Amino acid sequence: MNTRTPLIAGNWKMYKTNSEAVQTAGRLVELVADTADVDIMIAPVFTALDPVSKVVGGSRVGLGAQNLYWEKEGAYTGEISADMLVSAGCRYVIIGHSERRQYFGETDDTVNKKIRAALDAGLIPVLCIGETEDEREAGQTFSVLDKQVKSGLKEYVADDLAALVIAYEPVWAIGTGKSATTDQAQEAHNYIRSLIKDSFGPAFADAVRILYGGSVKPANISQLMDMPDIDGALVGGASLDADSFSRIVKFK
Ligand code: PEP
Repeated sequence: MNTRTPLIAGNWKMYKTNSEAVQTAGRLVELVADTADVDIMIAPVFTALDPVSKVVGGSRVGLGAQNLYWEKEGAYTGEISADMLVSAGCRYVIIGHSERRQYFGETDDTVNKKIRAALDAGLIPVLCIGETEDEREAGQTFSVLDKQVKSGLKEYVADDLAALVIAYEPVWAIGTGKSATTDQAQEAHNYIRSLIKDSFGPAFADAVRILYGGSVKPANISQLMDMPDIDGALVGGASLDADSFSRIVKFK
């Protein structure tokens, strides 16, 4: 039996105005007030962080951002630093989401710098990795994960990374309604944990939380959570509605 506390995280992507975000967050706070033994996070757009932090403050719901920039401050128009996220009430930050890798030039090198900035500011980084459909069909899933983990976490030691969360998100399952099977997800999670063990040792590998992401819904969360190496979920579409997200949070 592992002692990892599950984390159910919602990525709201570029959805919801401030009033919509505040309303959904308020409803979620009510719906999950009676939960225990599960960590909960929502990541609204940057502009909604401050108002949502006022709604979730003191509740079961933690606040996360969807990205950051690694410099502390400066002439970097359009960017936001880790300390600024902390000042807006964040505890978590998603780093290296496949949509950022695909559309905004995120690489394993920028991911590596962002993780350092997050950890230095006391944020919990949620490092996203995962293969595309072509890579899976070409039999490259493990080599892609290997590269993303090793390059993304290059030059770190286990002590640096105590707060780290990893999210395995096969790109072909994100927003497609086509979730990985429990066996596919477990196989990838087990492989990621073995990579972490090789690089950072068994104690850290046993402690690190590895979330699954890709078309998670109330209907498939329990089967996924039954897998020994799945420690939670990063949820996109189904996190936008407080009722469906709360049902995922209450997967037990
Ligand atoms: C995501 O955005 O990280 C995600 C997994 O999206 P969805 O749940 O909609 O597939």
